Amino acid sequence: MSHYRAVFRCAAGCEGEHSIWRPIYRCPTCGGLLQVVHDMDALRSRTAPGWMRVFEDRYKRTAWPYGSGVWGKKEWVCPELRNENVVSMDEGGTNLFWADRLGREMGLADLWVKMCGNSHTGSFKDLGMTVLVSVVKQMIADGAGIRAVACASTGDTSAALSAYAAAAGIPAIVILPRGLVTTAQLVQPLANGATVLALDTDFDGCMRIVQRLAEEEGVYLANSMNSLRIEGQKTVAIEIVQQFDWEVPDVVIIPGGNLGNVSALGAGFDMMIELGLIAKRPRIIVAQAAAANPLYRAYKNGWRFEPITAAPTVASAIRIGNPVSIHKAIATLQRYNGIVEEATEDELQDAAARADRTGLFNCPHTGVALAALDKIVSRGDIASHERVIVISTATGLKFTEFKVAYHSATGHEAGRFANPPIELPNDYDAVRRALDHVTRGEQAVRA
Ligand SMILES: *Cc1c(COP(=O)(O)O)cnc(C)c1O
Ligand SMILES: [Zn+2]
Repeated sequence: MSHYRAVFRCAAGCEGEHSIWRPIYRCPTCGGLLQVVHDMDALRSRTAPGWMRVFEDRYKRTAWPYGSGVWGKKEWVCPELRNENVVSMDEGGTNLFWADRLGREMGLADLWVKMCGNSHTGSFKDLGMTVLVSVVKQMIADGAGIRAVACASTGDTSAALSAYAAAAGIPAIVILPRGLVTTAQLVQPLANGATVLALDTDFDGCMRIVQRLAEEEGVYLANSMNSLRIEGQKTVAIEIVQQFDWEVPDVVIIPGGNLGNVSALGAGFDMMIELGLIAKRPRIIVAQAAAANPLYRAYKNGWRFEPITAAPTVASAIRIGNPVSIHKAIATLQRYNGIVEEATEDELQDAAARADRTGLFNCPHTGVALAALDKIVSRGDIASHERVIVISTATGLKFTEFKVAYHSATGHEAGRFANPPIELPNDYDAVRRALDHVTRGEQAVRA
C-alpha cells in the first residue's frame, strides 16, 4: 500500500503541505487548523465496489490490524503507517442499536443509535486516539525526540490517550479541570499510569496550557486540533453506511463540544462521495447543551461565532465555550444542510432517562442529542419515515453520578422518568403490597 500517501494541509487553504510525521498542529502561514489530505488519485486506482469489498472482507475479522473498524480502512486513514507500529484495541465495529420502541414514542419509524461508547475506554475517542498514538510510536521508532504525549480533556480524551499510550509504552500527561470530570473518567488515566494534572480552571483553560507545553516543551499534542484524530474518527461515517449495506441514512445527529467529531463525520462522508462509494449526503445535526452552546448561538446568528464561557452542565464532556474546530464544523454543517439544536439540563436528563426505559443506558451527551432530536421531530423538520442515526458518544457507565442523582431526586426536583428504589423491611406482606401497587400502575407506598 506504499503508493498511498497523506499529508497535512491548511484547512483554510494556504499553500504548502506538511509531513504528518513531524509535530505540527497549526498552519505556519495563518495559524489555523491543519487537515489531513490524501492522495485521492492513488486511492482511485481501486474502484468504489473494490473498496467496499476490501472493507467488508476485513470487517471484524482476525487478520491484524484490519479487524479494527479504524484499521480496516487503513489506506483511507494513515496509509504510510507500518503495521508494526499500529497501537490498536480493536476499536470501532460498534453496534447499531435499533431504537424501535423509542422511535415509535418519538414518531420515527427508522431510528438507530450508533453505540460508539461500546469501546475499549468507553467513548468514541478511541477511534481517533489509535491513529494518533500509532503515528507517535512510528515517529519515535524513526528517531523523533518526543518526551511524552499530552492532552487537555473533559475526561474521555484523557482516558483514551492514557490507555493507548500505556499499551505503546509512551509516557502520557493529562490535564483536567479539577472536580469537573466524573469519578470513572478520573480513575481511568490514574489506573493506566498517566501523569494526571488537575488544574483549578475549566477545559478551555487546560487547553491553553497544554498548547503551550506542546510549543515549548517537546511534548506531542493529542487534542483534536491535531487532525490525526479526525482521520480515525471519520471512519464512523463509513462504518454506519457499511452497516446499512452502503445505503446512506437521511439524518445523523451528534452531540458537539470541541466540534472535532462532527468535522470527522463530514470528512468520512466527503471521502465516500469523492471516491464514488455513495452519491448522496445525509443531513447532519449538532446538538449542544444550552449551558455550553457557542455553535448554536452562531447558527442562530448567521454563522457568526463568538466564544463564550461555558456554564456547568451534567454533559461535562461537551462543556466547552471556545471550540477549537469551530470553523471546520461550520463548513461541515453548510455542506450537509445542517441544523444546530440545544437542550436544557432538564430536557437532556429526561431524554436520557426516557430512552433508558427502552433498554439503552445513555450518557448525558447522548441525552443532549436525543432531546434535540425530539424537538426537531416535533416541529416537523424531520419526517417520520426518515432514517435517523443518533451518535451515542460514550457509555452511560462512565456517567453514573448524573443518573443516580436523577433517580434519587424527590419532590418538585424529581425528573419525569425518575425511578427510585422502594426500600422495605424484611417482610413478605410489605413486598406483596408493593408489588400490587406497582402492577396496578400506582406509585408504590414506602414502608
Ligand atoms: C469528546 C466528547 C464529545 C464531543 O466531541 P467533540 O469532538 O469535542 O465535539 C461528546 N460526547 C462525549 C462523550 C465525548 O467524550
Ligand atoms: Zn493557513
